[in-house]
Amino acid sequence: MKLALFNDFRLGAVTEDGIVDVTAALPYPHDPDPVTAGWWRALCRDFPGLATDLKTVAEAGTPVPLEQVRLREPVLNPSKIIACACNYRDHVEEMHAVQERTLGHVESWMMDFDVFLKSPSAISGPTEDIVLPAEVVAAGQEIHHESELVIVIGAGGKDIPEGEALDHVLGYTIGLDITVRSAADRSRRKSYDTFAPIGPWITTADEAGDPADFEIDLVLNGDDHRQHVHTKDLITPIPAIISYASRMMTLLPGDVVFTGAPPGVGPISAGDVLETRISRLGDMTLRVR
Ligand code: MN
Repeated sequence: MKLALFNDFRLGAVTEDGIVDVTAALPYPHDPDPVTAGWWRALCRDFPGLATDLKTVAEAGTPVPLEQVRLREPVLNPSKIIACACNYRDHVEEMHAVQERTLGHVESWMMDFDVFLKSPSAISGPTEDIVLPAEVVAAGQEIHHESELVIVIGAGGKDIPEGEALDHVLGYTIGLDITVRSAADRSRRKSYDTFAPIGPWITTADEAGDPADFEIDLVLNGDDHRQHVHTKDLITPIPAIISYASRMMTLLPGDVVFTGAPPGVGPISAGDVLETRISRLGDMTLRVR
């Protein structure tokens, strides 16, 4: 299934003909308030048992064209965003030059794979603009796009073995890990509001297929094809990311995991248009202001 949130955070199933409202098929009352909407995390946890009912309602319903709804970010109140650093070799390679240019030296500890946290309040939806912070622009610091495969956690867990990791995935979506290049902690440089656009929907794991077989692309302003990568080239594959992160922190239903930047990161400016797409998952077009 393709699960979307739209309008006042109603649950939709995206079909070839549009979006079907499946909110009424949930065993929880609809709560449009993102602050109290625990129903979303319950859905992430309970999806395998609800999938049949949701699919039945989706097939019986009348799709509304996607242009007639406001698609929201397809995640709600995640307890955390976990993000991977240095997960494609060619990106690690290019970061030497990026750091020489933006820091004046190379931070060797930043050249190894690891995970870090990004603030959930940075999340924005597929129709929202990316807003460049005035103070960062005024300081002349570069702000970069990182176009990434994003995992949404279904059943949570601690110390998850690699062999069971994919059982903990609700599905996959597209995200941009927007990043200031400066000498500050990653959590600050990557947590400004709108620095985590996510969407346009979640393709559930059963439909998405092999997570080591996605192609990620990012095109700037219609003709500048900046990023292209295949997820088979991840240094730390999806099951290993989940297992590794779960050794540090309990993964909770609805948690969001950015899997790492492809090579081709680069600066964005006000007025830019970013088109990011992942095979089988969809695409998003986002404006920068
Ligand atoms: Mn990233």
